[in-house]
Amino acid sequence: MINQLLQNYNNYKEQNLIELTIKYADIERVVSKLNADFFEITVLGKSFEDRNIYQIKVGEGKTKILLWSQMHGNEAVGTMAIFDILNFFVADDELNSYRQKLLKNCTFYFVPMLNPDGAEKKTRRNAQSIDLNRDALKLTAPESIILNEIADEIMPEFGFNLHDQEIYYGPENSNKTSALSFLAPAFDYPKTINEKRTKSMLVIADIFRMLQNYIPNQVAKYNDSFMPNAFGDNIQKKGISTILVEAGYILGNEHRQEVRKYYFLSLVYAFYSIVEQNFKKFVLKDYNDIPMNVKLKFCDYIFKNVTIKQNNKEFTTDISVIRNILDSEKFTDYEDDFIIWDIGDMQNKFAFEIIDLKWKKIENGNNIVERLKKADFLFKYR
Ligand SMILES: [Zn+2]
Repeated sequence: MINQLLQNYNNYKEQNLIELTIKYADIERVVSKLNADFFEITVLGKSFEDRNIYQIKVGEGKTKILLWSQMHGNEAVGTMAIFDILNFFVADDELNSYRQKLLKNCTFYFVPMLNPDGAEKKTRRNAQSIDLNRDALKLTAPESIILNEIADEIMPEFGFNLHDQEIYYGPENSNKTSALSFLAPAFDYPKTINEKRTKSMLVIADIFRMLQNYIPNQVAKYNDSFMPNAFGDNIQKKGISTILVEAGYILGNEHRQEVRKYYFLSLVYAFYSIVEQNFKKFVLKDYNDIPMNVKLKFCDYIFKNVTIKQNNKEFTTDISVIRNILDSEKFTDYEDDFIIWDIGDMQNKFAFEIIDLKWKKIENGNNIVERLKKADFLFKYR
């Protein structure tokens, strides 16, 4: 089934959603094209700026599965994967028995683009500047109220919380970037593992094992520290087995379309694991053994062998440089310029590009630390 899903993927891929900056109008367009006899399409409510938040329901089975994407407006890969899945459901090919099995045994509730106002502005936060994923308790944003209400109303067996992560993550013990990352979020500070959370963990373990055949050493799991105001944690707390999926990066694949394919594959595979109860063949150790996702394992550039002249002395060292997005979760405007990240031993750091400045000398290194905010000058020495 997996190989066929991959082989046929281009038939399912929603060609109207390609750019990472998909906007509300794109969602309206693809939703309006859905077959209304096959899918039950409803407007759950309005965003703060009065854009529709849609729910697409399909299937007639007793296992309810809720998926929501793009609660962070600038994280579009999960939304793309949702529409790829919808296209998979209506396709007619040699996988008919599989899709029929899924639709007969499950009822799916898809909520693509929970934060259309943020998507419109290409920002993480909603129009009120609230991070919806820190609003699960206060429910200040209309978008948060909608998600909380449907979770209570549907009370699905599984909830999939679909995000994108920054490109700089990598699995520990790997020299590759994280293409996909997962988490079975905790629902309390002691990180209690109850029956519902165990199910999330085992489904992730099953997905992880499958992905090793396609993107080995490029899949990781997040730290499970409890975040009391995050949605995943609170939906897990409601007794819904919750799975966080984060689209990462495959080196050189700038628009994350390769990651999108494996994102789609992981979700369909997870549905199948749930229907067939294949995840029960796994044990908690399989989840625990998934490598941790290391933040900022990668940077954009490492300048090697930089000779700096400072206080009439010379020394040679390495300098790492990264786009100025280090605080993407903070409330800041991001500039697309580069900043120096670190100076010193870079042997255990990874970069998308390494530039050797062996024969160059940076004069007047005295104020190099004051110049940390701008790394542009380094490129002049390239
Ligand atoms: Zn996110």
